[in-house]
Parts: sequence; C-alpha cells; structure tokens
Amino acid sequence: MSLHHTYFGHQPLNGHHPDCVAAGPTGNGGWEAAIAIDEIPFVDPKTGDRGYRRECGLRLLCRSCGAVIQLHADDADALHYTNVTELGYGSKPERCAGMWLHPGAPLLPGEGPYDYYVTDSPHPPADESQVAGVISRFVTKRGAKQWLAAYGQRQGGGAISRTDEHFKTKAAAVKWITATRAAAESTPDSGTASGDPAPEAADQAHINP
Ligand SMILES: [Zn+2]
Repeated sequence: MSLHHTYFGHQPLNGHHPDCVAAGPTGNGGWEAAIAIDEIPFVDPKTGDRGYRRECGLRLLCRSCGAVIQLHADDADALHYTNVTELGYGSKPERCAGMWLHPGAPLLPGEGPYDYYVTDSPHPPADESQVAGVISRFVTKRGAKQWLAAYGQRQGGGAISRTDEHFKTKAAAVKWITATRAAAESTPDSGTASGDPAPEAADQAHINP
C-alpha cells in the first residue's frame, strides 16, 4: 500500500449519531469491536464432496447511541491481524534535521520503513499541504543503503519536484527538502502561476489545519 494511501486514503467512520456522547473529541471513539468466524456447509458442485468454508464478520457497535457498522466477507482469510510496525502509519514519528518523519510500510517485513513523509509537526499530516516532502530508501548497485528525496506533495499524491541525487543519511535527504522549500517560498510568483496556494496561505494551513 502506498504511503499516500496509508495516510490519506482512509476516512473517519462517522457512524455515530451526531449527539452521541461516547464518540469523544475525535467523533470516532466508543466503538466496541467484535469478530465472528462462521463455518458454512459446502457441497462442491462438480465432485459432490461436502466440506466447510469459513466466512468472517467484523462488527463495531456503540452502546451509547446504538449505531452499528458491520463488514462481512465470504473468506475468513480476509481478516488480517497486523500492527503499526507492519503498517508504518500509527508508529511514533522520528525527529530528523529539525523536521518530523512519519513512516510508511516496510517493503519486506522487519526491514524498517521504506519511505517517510517529512513534516513540520509530530502530528500525522492531515492533508497533502502539510507534507514538506518524502524521503525513500534506495539501494545502490553495490548494496549501499541511501536515501532519495522529493519536495512537496500534490493533492491526490505525487511530489512537486524531486532530485536524482542520492543521500547517505536521512538527515541529508531532509535538508534537501527544507532547502528546496525555502528556495520555492522565497521566489516571487513561485506557485501562483501554476495555481498553487501562495506561501502565506501554506503557512496559514500549518497553523490552522
Ligand atoms: Zn455512539
């Protein structure tokens, strides 16, 4: 799953009644989560063999407002238990070169995040305007681990610009992003010609997301 989908492809459930007190400040608290695994008798139409197939269900229920959200799948293997290390998203951000790194998923289990969103805040970015850039792992032909850097993030995904340069450390890649941003924001007319928000508007978005 891409870094962009991990951070911006999910929406709050918004399943509670508007007056629900259990929903809490996020509007998304108070859910009681439960699963069901059912074995359904099954006859193979070709061979006549009898067997079972396993279905699964996920139920979210609020005892305060009575809202219920149900998800059903014909295949119990659709239920996947994982954790924030495997997902990247939800892991603690990392301080690096004056910025914050928000991890994506590893390409292979246990090898550490493949890429990171770079932001000014320890809070996960709420939208693309809060992303200063992306750094991602790169392995040279000789097997050395290095980093690639891309500046900015367009709505819907994709960097505003990127460099072919390889960086030996995450900090060096982050510094390229902050320097590129500073240069873009100090250039008169930068962004306005292409319809992007003016630097002042972008700063405002950081203060009031
Ligand atoms: Zn509720």
